[in-house]
Amino acid sequence: MEWETVIGLETHVELATRTKIFCACSTKFGAPPNTQCCPVCMGMPGTLPVLNEKVVEYAVRTGLALNCEITKYNRFDRKNYFYPDLPKGYQTSQLYLPVARNGAVRIELENGREKDIGISEMHMEEDAGKLIHEPENGCTKVDYNRCGVPLIEIVTQPDFRDGEEVVAYLEELQSILQYLEVSDCKLQEGSLRCDVNLSVRPVGSAQLGSRTEMKNLGSFRAVRRAVAYESQRQIAVLESGGAVLQETRRWDEDRNKSVSMRAKENARDYRYFPEPDLPPLRLDEAYLELLRQQPELAGEKRRRYRQEYGLPAYDADMLTGQKALAEFFEETVARGADPKTASNWILGQVLRQLSQRNLEAKDMTLLPRTLARIIELVERGEINRNTGVQVFDGVFDGGDPEEYIKVNGLRQVSDPEQITRAVETVLKQNPGPVAEFRAGKEKSFGFLVGQTMRNLGGKGDSKQVNVILRNRLSEP
Ligand code: ADP
Ligand code: MG
Ligand code: ZN
Repeated sequence: MEWETVIGLETHVELATRTKIFCACSTKFGAPPNTQCCPVCMGMPGTLPVLNEKVVEYAVRTGLALNCEITKYNRFDRKNYFYPDLPKGYQTSQLYLPVARNGAVRIELENGREKDIGISEMHMEEDAGKLIHEPENGCTKVDYNRCGVPLIEIVTQPDFRDGEEVVAYLEELQSILQYLEVSDCKLQEGSLRCDVNLSVRPVGSAQLGSRTEMKNLGSFRAVRRAVAYESQRQIAVLESGGAVLQETRRWDEDRNKSVSMRAKENARDYRYFPEPDLPPLRLDEAYLELLRQQPELAGEKRRRYRQEYGLPAYDADMLTGQKALAEFFEETVARGADPKTASNWILGQVLRQLSQRNLEAKDMTLLPRTLARIIELVERGEINRNTGVQVFDGVFDGGDPEEYIKVNGLRQVSDPEQITRAVETVLKQNPGPVAEFRAGKEKSFGFLVGQTMRNLGGKGDSKQVNVILRNRLSEP
């Protein structure tokens, strides 16, 4: 029988607010254990939560970017369960009236194929603490710093059919969240965490099969491998006449397999009820209108770069890969640089410098106007392109290109007499290659150009060097 895999995703995103969702404790990552908590986020009796307005703003912005309907009257609910990383004994979440519903995200697959992934709902909630297991002395410690860090959970429809689609969605989601600046969404640091719900069914069947939920996916690679493993496992179970148990499984990256954790719980198991300590949230039209003025997202930029600037798809994809890079590009063009030329410089030289220094675009000090100026100087023939790169490297950390050219004597040599003199010298010094060229070996011409450029300290106007050298060689 032929099988089809069906996947739905639940993604938790830590919001990049400075403080927690219901108290003023810091959310900063990496602080010593239990230094960022207070009676509210530790669930002491008698304390009361106060909702952080920024959380609502970030959640609504995200909901709008995911093309959701925003729930104007929404509310928090208590999800009750016991676990040592949850001192309150319940998680304040949203079940009945989540802040956003019925959205869609468009993903791009190979060969430019596009697909819409439905978003069934998105809600706000608080994170739990962290357990730190120390097998060497048989104990488990608990760190409450993460208790009350704001999260949004984004739930998709079961619209994915393979791991590639899942990864494409996660990449798109990351891009959206970064452009909105609502989260740094790092899979490794756990600020983006996804659970994969997966079932299989005979191709052509309209019914969903029994599903498992997989947790602990720390990288895109883990997601791909977990999807492949789990669908093969379920197919094997079904083909041998068994049934897939509805359960929660943990992905074990080292052993490359999923292992059963527990039977899947239902909403009923959590005894949800409306949170009595927080008033319902009313979002009025004026507030939503304000938040609808969103920054342009990567997808729109990609389209615009192709249409408005005529850039190839590759350039548009690369430039929009980091928001700061896209902004740098737009500013360089606004300063008069030709878009394709600016793109070449950025994807070549800027990315080279960044990778050498292990920097992200948002952390670089180079100014768009500096690059625009270098491009202009090359365009006007005041320096050649190679010198341009030398100037670029020289002022990457700051400085004025023209000043740098003057101080280092890099102005281009375009005086025909000076170039002719250099050509004569080179021809005299290289009778071998000259003879070879005359015998039809075109490659020797390149060599002689290189030698002439060297003679001119790399500053020769390469067009003129080519012309003068060729003319001279065609003489007997
Ligand atoms: P629960 O309340 O148990 O978490 P939901 O209805 O909220 O279940 O669904 C959670 C996720 O699982 C959603 O992303 C949904 O698309 C996905 N899902 C539900 N049923 C299936 C199924 N049979 N196969 C694959 N994914 C499923
Ligand atoms: Mg759910
Ligand atoms: Zn606190």
